[in-house]
Amino acid sequence: MPPKKAATTRRTRRTKKPGVTIPDAIRLMTEEHGPFANEPRLDPAHELTFTILSQHTSDRNSERAFRSLMERFGTLEAVAAADVDAIEEAISGGGLAKIKAPRIKTVLNRILELNDGSLDLTFLAEMPMDEARAWLRQLPGIGPKSAGIILSFSLGMPAMAVDTHIFRVSQRLGIIGPKVNADKAHEVLEAAMAPEDVYPFHAAFITHGRKVCKAQRPLCGACVVNYGCPSRDEKAMQEMAEAAAAVANDSADSDRPDGQAPGRRRRGGKSATPTPVPHTQVVKELQP
Ligand code: SF4
Repeated sequence: MPPKKAATTRRTRRTKKPGVTIPDAIRLMTEEHGPFANEPRLDPAHELTFTILSQHTSDRNSERAFRSLMERFGTLEAVAAADVDAIEEAISGGGLAKIKAPRIKTVLNRILELNDGSLDLTFLAEMPMDEARAWLRQLPGIGPKSAGIILSFSLGMPAMAVDTHIFRVSQRLGIIGPKVNADKAHEVLEAAMAPEDVYPFHAAFITHGRKVCKAQRPLCGACVVNYGCPSRDEKAMQEMAEAAAAVANDSADSDRPDGQAPGRRRRGGKSATPTPVPHTQVVKELQP
């Protein structure tokens, strides 16, 4: 009699379930990295221009390009009227100038067409958020992230702007599923939290992504939400636990009364100066 065939075991797919709630994640990350500055930004048309310059470019380069553009032309109306070649030359320090110069000119001129010859977009703040977003999305090259940046940072509306850090941390924590793309993530995340949590979430997650949940080597052992993270790196957790145990054994020699590993910031030890979120920092420097 042939041996019984082993029962085929179905490979169970590891689904990521968030073990940490969004409010808890915001609170813990803010305790760790905050408080965060929430400062006024550029007006919407300048913010929009800056946003185009920052696409696929480092903060430093986009800042340089924006500064150079405004020094050269003085006003956005002058940029709208300028030759593409001249715009390209002015922003050449920022990268992708060949693509961004015509895009900036086209967008500014489209705003002038749609808005009775004015680049003042503050009227968007009076509209329901979905309509304001749709108005911006009709502009060429303005996707959900750019629209979210303008609505949120420039107009103070509770719009989500999902950058690469926020997307990565949200996905690793299981707050958005593996099939949700970056565009869709805006909707999913906005629907997942109260409007008043949108900015705190943005500030907390972008900073956490930059400092701890890095793209290549996330520092899971030092992560304040590792207890509920389905993507945590168990090896890193183990190494951190061993390092902490070694320090605890040496505590007689330690000058840290809380027994924490050296270099680890004490939780709740808030600094007096609010931490600027990256975008705030850049734009603040650009303001006259
Ligand atoms: S535990 Fe690791 S993967 Fe999860 S959020 Fe923290 S740093 Fe990112």
